Amino acid sequence: MAYLSPGTPADLADRARAGLADRLGATATVVARAPGRVNLIGEHTDYNAGAVLPVALPHATYAAAAPRTDGVVRLASAQQDRIWTGRLDETGPGQVTGWAAYAAGVVWALGPLLADSAAGTGGFDIYIDSTVPLGAGLSSSAAIECAVAVAVLHLAGVPITDEVRAATIAACIRAETEVAGAPTGGMDQTVSMLAQAECALHIDFRDETHEPVALDLPGRVLLVTDTGVSHELTDGGYGARRADCEQAAREMGVPTLRDADPADVARLTDERVRRRAHHVVTEIARVADVVAALRTRDLPAIGAAFAASHESMRDDFEISTPELDLAVDTAVQAGADAARMTGGGFGGSIVAIVPAERAEAVTTAIDAAFAGAGFSAPAHLLAEPSAGAGVVD
Ligand code: ADP
Ligand code: MG
Repeated sequence: MAYLSPGTPADLADRARAGLADRLGATATVVARAPGRVNLIGEHTDYNAGAVLPVALPHATYAAAAPRTDGVVRLASAQQDRIWTGRLDETGPGQVTGWAAYAAGVVWALGPLLADSAAGTGGFDIYIDSTVPLGAGLSSSAAIECAVAVAVLHLAGVPITDEVRAATIAACIRAETEVAGAPTGGMDQTVSMLAQAECALHIDFRDETHEPVALDLPGRVLLVTDTGVSHELTDGGYGARRADCEQAAREMGVPTLRDADPADVARLTDERVRRRAHHVVTEIARVADVVAALRTRDLPAIGAAFAASHESMRDDFEISTPELDLAVDTAVQAGADAARMTGGGFGGSIVAIVPAERAEAVTTAIDAAFAGAGFSAPAHLLAEPSAGAGVVD
């Protein structure tokens, strides 16, 4: 069975250095790595002051970088043909289009942190390479942002303290929202910067806390299947869901859906808005259930929460697709303990907890079901919980 390989950091750092030399003719002084993520549970809860439970993937984005002295930024990526060139003061909102906005936007948003050093204000050559599938709901966007951030902070001589990590998360969120023009709730950047190996990260957006939760399920693997159906966060589906959530909170007179009373949700007059709010309120409760169940290794409870989450996203939040539904149903039938769609929806991936010895049977069953339904072949990867962003030595 072929899983998408995460590669090893040392090999991928070498590949990134070689790419920087080939495409931009520069010699790397640093390579930074930042992981993609898969969310175990807690979907569309981050922007409702709820909680989430993502895991950093071993699959990551690597940024090889070299300083310049002429105030110019050049950006190239192994995953993209177009090289972007501009001045440092051309990296902000409305000035960069396409993939380069995710990287240039970070340089712009980190500006205040870089301003104190000559290297931070001289410009950069940056080359990106990644083993995170793009647009698969596994947050290649936060991975590129955080890899670029760590690389340029290193060049500017800024030590990556806890405080700088927090400022970097905020800068990456600004880059994605204001420069790339894709609304984002903050989960992806937070886990890419703060994840710990072998753990999920329980992030609470009301209390602004984050806490590692050991992912210690004996004999189990975390399987991710990318349906290959690409979601598009800028196409309005995500924004429409956010607007429904805000309307629900307004009608109930609460600041966010985190504060909503389920009885008040049931009384919302608009049927669609009521279902959207019902998803968010029940999903926030399910995050707490799964955190508790992980502590007691209660796989049936995790399975029940994943099933309820998937149904809620399919029926109440209406962000699933036939491919996601088929992958989840097939995984469970073939022996997964738990399976649900993951990420913002409208395509992307599913996440499943599977007995290691059933992993091949599950992937084979999904492949066969997809072929039978006339869907294109999905891709599978194993999500061994990895550490957050840092410099590759
Ligand atoms: P996801 O985060 O789920 O992968 P997004 O739509 O949020 O999907 O982000 C994907 C976009 O991020 C890509 O279309 C591209 O513009 C940019 N991107 C991500 N990774 C890379 C990369 N390695 N090289 C260049 N651009 C990238
Ligand atoms: Mg993204």
